[in-house]
Amino acid sequence: MAKIHVLGGMGYDSNIFLVEDDDPILVDTGTRYHLRRNVEDIEEIVPITDIGSIILTHRHYDHTGGAAELAKRSGAEVYVHREDANAVRIGDSVSTGARNFDDDQERVDVTLLDEGQELSTGFYNFMVLHTPGHTVGGISLYDIEHRILLSGDTVFTNGGVGRWDLPTGNYDQLVASIELLSKLDVDGLYPGHMAAVAEGGSDHVKMGLRNLTEFSREELLMSRIQPLLEHSDEILKLIEERKQRVTDVKTKFEIE
Ligand SMILES: [Zn+2]
Repeated sequence: MAKIHVLGGMGYDSNIFLVEDDDPILVDTGTRYHLRRNVEDIEEIVPITDIGSIILTHRHYDHTGGAAELAKRSGAEVYVHREDANAVRIGDSVSTGARNFDDDQERVDVTLLDEGQELSTGFYNFMVLHTPGHTVGGISLYDIEHRILLSGDTVFTNGGVGRWDLPTGNYDQLVASIELLSKLDVDGLYPGHMAAVAEGGSDHVKMGLRNLTEFSREELLMSRIQPLLEHSDEILKLIEERKQRVTDVKTKFEIE
């Protein structure tokens, strides 16, 4: 029976999704720090050489660091959206963030993905949606029939959203991408980090959109300032007291 297994996630690793089906695929690979364990977990489900495709949701090292070795062991072709492909292909340790994980980005030969492309594993049929914002070449995979969304680091369960302040990230693009995802009917939501859910995926996506837009940067800042404003009388009193003390000291020592 076809099934989406959630593997990986150890340490800083992204989730690794193994779609067990007629033509099994992997979505994301984690870093390469726990590679042996990840291979063991895969092989408990399918022989690794059965995996024909490895899809990378975006360029970040915590999703792509294991890709070169897993591609070698499986013989699978590696797919990345064209906007993120070069960073993975040339092993760009800066924009993939590998440096932040004390590692180098290993070069991988990649095949380009574009919006609208379809990836069938047999039972599942995923469509590639270009969802930039976290990185410029971020993608999500959507199976319309089974209402399943693999969202990479664009949106997570429980209202979490991807960072937009890393290289090639963009706040407005992230809002537009999550807006798009919020219009889909989603039951199963499989994000790049944190728990996946089998039901109610759309609610999680909408929660993320609300968090991102209603609590935009300015409002987050205001929410921090608000408690200070509420106590403004006390703060003003403290300031007055301090001024008075300075005046007192000046008077005492006859300072101008
Ligand atoms: Zn990421």
